Amino acid sequence: MDQKPDGTGVGRTKVDNFVALVAMAAVVLTGIIVARHPYPLVPQSKVTYVLIFCVLLFLGETRSNWFRFADGGEVTPGWAFAFGIVLLGAPVVAIGAMAFCTLFVDLRDRKPRTKAIFNAAQITTSLATGALVLNLMGLTQPVTDVGRLSYRWGFGILTAGAIVFTVNGLLTCIVLALHYETRIRSMFGRSFLLSISADGALLALSPIFVVAINYSLLMLPSLGITALLIYQSTQQALKRAHEANHDGLTHLLNRRTFDGHLTGFLDSNLDDDVRGAVLLLDLDGFKEVNDRLGHQTGDRVLQGIAARLTACSPDNALISRLGGDEFAVLIPDIGAEASMMATVTELRSELIRPILVDGFPISVGVSIGLAVIPTHGRTAEDLLSAADVAMYRAKRFRTGIESYKALGSRSERGRLGLLGELSNALTSHQLAVHYQPLTRFRDGAADGVEALLRWDHPTLGQIPPGDFITLAEHTDLIGPLTQFVLNQATKDACDFNRYNIRLSINVSARNLQDRRFAATVFKALSAAELDPSQLVLEITENAIASEPERSLFTIAALREEGVRVAIDDFGTGYSSFSMLRDLTVDRLKIDASFIAGIAASERQQHLVKAIVDLARGLSIETVAEGVETAEAWDILASLGCDVAQGFLICHPLPLPDLMQWLEIRDSAASMRSLAS
Ligand code: C2E
Ligand code: CA
Ligand code: CA
Repeated sequence: MDQKPDGTGVGRTKVDNFVALVAMAAVVLTGIIVARHPYPLVPQSKVTYVLIFCVLLFLGETRSNWFRFADGGEVTPGWAFAFGIVLLGAPVVAIGAMAFCTLFVDLRDRKPRTKAIFNAAQITTSLATGALVLNLMGLTQPVTDVGRLSYRWGFGILTAGAIVFTVNGLLTCIVLALHYETRIRSMFGRSFLLSISADGALLALSPIFVVAINYSLLMLPSLGITALLIYQSTQQALKRAHEANHDGLTHLLNRRTFDGHLTGFLDSNLDDDVRGAVLLLDLDGFKEVNDRLGHQTGDRVLQGIAARLTACSPDNALISRLGGDEFAVLIPDIGAEASMMATVTELRSELIRPILVDGFPISVGVSIGLAVIPTHGRTAEDLLSAADVAMYRAKRFRTGIESYKALGSRSERGRLGLLGELSNALTSHQLAVHYQPLTRFRDGAADGVEALLRWDHPTLGQIPPGDFITLAEHTDLIGPLTQFVLNQATKDACDFNRYNIRLSINVSARNLQDRRFAATVFKALSAAELDPSQLVLEITENAIASEPERSLFTIAALREEGVRVAIDDFGTGYSSFSMLRDLTVDRLKIDASFIAGIAASERQQHLVKAIVDLARGLSIETVAEGVETAEAWDILASLGCDVAQGFLICHPLPLPDLMQWLEIRDSAASMRSLAS
């Protein structure tokens, strides 16, 4: 991957060609100016003034700590003096001095070579074009020598100034548009306009400077101060514009600006066969860093990630911090699928290397969601949400990177379309709740059922909950969805309640953050006349991690009334132990990944044993998820696990089938107890 030393590195062929073109124009135009110049290079009477202006130009360009920003030009007071030298009748010196100073500063600041060449060529071209216009209008004398200024002179100065400023702005625009592969129009952002208007203001000062210095050298301090003040105020304005467009901590683009650039890119490229990508990156375990090591360390980590992202993203990528620990990258051309994945994998492996903060290596994970342009969306909004869904998947399944996957044959519809249909599904009876029985190891009796949502789509068939719940969890839709399961399942529980079994319902992070959630649960319970202790709410570790205070408050309110709480998928989150410390729970559901293949793995058996013992010490019941074989059952029973759930016992069933299953189980149990 190309290195991008200043975040705006220029290195693409199109850009290179354009820079070469501008450099050529600079040489030709300078040649023409030299050839057409009637005077000695500097008119004799103006040597002192030209020298003074050169010194001021040099100081202006080199001495200040310029405020530079990545998405537009740069303001330098040098312009006022350079154009002043043109008006003093020494355009060749003006061009030479300005080009020299620009090169000097860029080399000193170790800017990429192409960028340094472009800056010098751009300045030369714009100054030379302005000088040529004056020359063509026959206005080659020093402006101070023409006596009273005629309209022609006035008009000439204005035109030349306007041309210098326009050419300069236009060249910057073109090179940036080529670099970011977007339309020139979309480069005309607020900061860009501000920057070129600052150039304009400085250029407008030039004739005043020339006249003033010609009047008396004593005007010199006033000139310097005026230039400095103008420079400083434009610098402030630019700084404000920069702040409005960038994130203060990492100096990456902010969300609004990124959205704007992405829209510009899509507007100008969608007709062509472009294959770009939008990446959404979210740090894993950042909250822990922040909580445990303090915000300052957290900030340093974010800065470190931003710097690495900038250094390791492809050269023409647009990078943004969307907020918190979330970043987005637009890669304008991503190539074939395989190379795309390779690029992103390489990027990720760079990002997850420990970041040194005050000499301490700090590690955070990164989950990346990837949406391909135009396959996964044609608007900024669609692409960002697609990448968001993919990122969420990567996080949830801890795969690191996920590309937004269209749902098999349902691809055209895309997940976002699906999200829209999901809200209809709620009202048009396409959703149903199935129940998977849980049984006790001790006696094989039914212990409870877990309510699992099912979506029977009219044309797409059964859609697995993993596919649409992760989507809904990212929107407010998870509220009504959980509400639906809660209402339906508590109602159905009236049927299976007579078997004296508990009802488990899965609850998402957003539900727990909803202040009204506990009240909703109580309402559903009392509507179905269910005792709160009959209900188990299953909560994953990660559901609490996002906003622990609010979530813990909701859980405490629920438990106070007798509702039971289970930790779902235990052992797969980031906070298994701290969760047990902060939260009193009734059950611990050992994730299926610990259970699958347990018969063949002694290591897994030790792990599960440790979890079971730990839970027992805290008076917490354990549930083994994903019990699929009789061997697993036996081992888990011998390890002291309390409850089993899995295909060995039963698949999730619709209510009538569940009732039948419970019926058969119940009569079998009665037979057994009769026999014994
Ligand atoms: P979960 O809470 O871990 O639910 C258990 C999942 O494991 C269910 O998948 C179940 O069908 C599956 N399963 C049960 N026994 C076995 C087994 O022996 N082997 C294997 N391989 N799988 C088994 P399902 O129904 O596809 O649900 C997937 C996930 O979707 C659930 O995982 C849960 O996180 C989520 N989910 C389902 N319904 C709801 C709901 O109503 N609300 C919320 N928030 N999430 C839900
Ligand atoms: Ca569950
Ligand atoms: Ca589970």
